[in-house]
Amino acid sequence: MTSSTPTPSALSHLPPHIRALLLNPSLDSPPFRATTSHLHHTWARTYSSLPELYIRPRSIAEIQHAVRLASRCRRRITTVGSGHSPSDLTCTSSWLMNLDDFNAILEIDRETNLVTMQAGIRLFQLCDELDKVGLAVPNLGSINSQSIAGVISTGTHGSSLQFGLLSERIQRLEIVLGTGELKTCSATEEPELFRAALLSLGALGIIVTVTFKAVPAFSVRWDQTIDTDEKVFARWEKHTLWNQAQYVRVWWFPYMRRAVTWKGDPVPETEVLSGKVSHRDPPTSWYDNQLGYYVYHNLLYLGRFIPRILPWVEWFVFGMQYGFKNGSESTISGLQPSRKALLMNCLYSQFVNEWAIPLEKGPEALRRLGCWLQGLQPGDKGPVEVRVSVTTVHTSAEANTRPWLDITQKDGPTLYLNAIMYRPYHTDPGSAMERYYQGFEWLMKDLGGKPHWAKNFTASKAEMEEWYGQDLVKWREVRDKADPEGLFVGPWHRRLLLGGEKEKRLENEEVEAGRRRAKDGGVLWEGMQVEKASEL
Ligand SMILES: Cc1cc2nc3c(=O)[nH]c(=O)nc-3n(C[C@H](O)[C@H](O)[C@H](O)COP(=O)(O)OP(=O)(O)OC[C@H]3O[C@@H](n4cnc5c(N)ncnc54)[C@H](O)[C@@H]3O)c2cc1C
Repeated sequence: MTSSTPTPSALSHLPPHIRALLLNPSLDSPPFRATTSHLHHTWARTYSSLPELYIRPRSIAEIQHAVRLASRCRRRITTVGSGHSPSDLTCTSSWLMNLDDFNAILEIDRETNLVTMQAGIRLFQLCDELDKVGLAVPNLGSINSQSIAGVISTGTHGSSLQFGLLSERIQRLEIVLGTGELKTCSATEEPELFRAALLSLGALGIIVTVTFKAVPAFSVRWDQTIDTDEKVFARWEKHTLWNQAQYVRVWWFPYMRRAVTWKGDPVPETEVLSGKVSHRDPPTSWYDNQLGYYVYHNLLYLGRFIPRILPWVEWFVFGMQYGFKNGSESTISGLQPSRKALLMNCLYSQFVNEWAIPLEKGPEALRRLGCWLQGLQPGDKGPVEVRVSVTTVHTSAEANTRPWLDITQKDGPTLYLNAIMYRPYHTDPGSAMERYYQGFEWLMKDLGGKPHWAKNFTASKAEMEEWYGQDLVKWREVRDKADPEGLFVGPWHRRLLLGGEKEKRLENEEVEAGRRRAKDGGVLWEGMQVEKASEL
């Protein structure tokens, strides 16, 4: 079936009242570009689901039309960007909407650097379009595949003590609410909606346009050095680790007691254009190409069956990738456009469990985690990504720019620890991951942490209520007003964020019906509409 109004045969499995509604559009209604038989899965194939309809709208009118249809059909709509959130957050058996066909740049104001775009644009497209007019995104996370709306909706961050969340540059949003109404919000217009939409986990409405303040294009001069982790901790304690450059991130390999520090500073584009400096990629070895990728992938896979080889595999792969020596002899460097330099290769399918704690607790956190990890079996651990941000400079509650659900510190710098468990060829680490993540989460909670919304974590609603207090109350209030029928609400939201017991569930809400192993790895998730669940 093509991505246009569905044909009768393609809808034969739907309930008659829904079929009738979809097949008899009024003459003036916008197209409803929906397909059936779409298998949705996360980038890491950790979760998958089979939505009843997969909708690819091309205009705001089409998005509003789909929302109104969903309301009449008693269906939930989940919006998915690039599916990079590895949890069941975007899983649905109801209607799945994707804005990949709604991804144009609408306006660039060269005086203010304000850029307005359709919300399905991916970060790599945005960066390329900005580069054409001499602009850039000042801060990026590890990858650029995400949609701008997905980045905003989960609080995606990079690593810098001069920046906060990527969404701190957002000036204005347009959002289609549960009633189909289009609302504009900003720090001065509907500010409560703005703070809720700045991190909404898709539960508030569909973000359709985004106005973002770009910066003049720049390059980044960077270098990367490997050292013993004790040396990195010592530097941290002397306060010379995180402020040695504008962008700093650390990859920590606790079982090898080594860490990779990457740091970079901006270089104005005028210096590149005038020939004062020139772009330079880092040296590459055979290991950086496809061969290296497959060697590591296969060795990791072998380690699933023979865990005792994993320390050797890690030593070998780490050495091949970063060098076997420590200190200045291991340093590599580059000078690249920012949209390239700030990214890193995230390799394979993985589970990621990332928490934000106060930066000053960092050395204690890593030492405690390191001691505990020494006692675990080789297959029970993975690398830890260590990053920072400061959300107190560009955003604040007083300025109506801090998201209600922001996980970062309100009064100082934040440290993110991201515990990674690879899934070579989509094989799950199983009980090893449970052991590791249980201990890791216990420590993060003990140090005052909050989990990154996009990632694989366990926490209870009671904990969320304690951590977010009045901010969560406010977010719920705004959400309930924006979407009173629960057209954007699924079990992930109910489990972690929303109040209310079973009988108080919302009319269009989706509930979980079951989970089973998917054929090609991960979990196949199934849901059902709340009205159906209440009949059972
Ligand atoms: C390899 C990898 C590297 C990553 N690196 C980082 C990193 O460096 N820093 C970091 O913080 N995170 C990182 N992440 C997490 C990632 O940035 C988030 O998962 C982000 O949400 C992904 O964007 P997406 O477009 O894939 O959104 P999805 O995962 O598809 O959706 C995420 C949420 O956004 C909602 N959403 C999507 N579009 C809309 C819309 N139009 N309106 C309303 N809601 C919407 C969805 O409903 C869902 O709740 C990484 C993830 C992976 C897999």
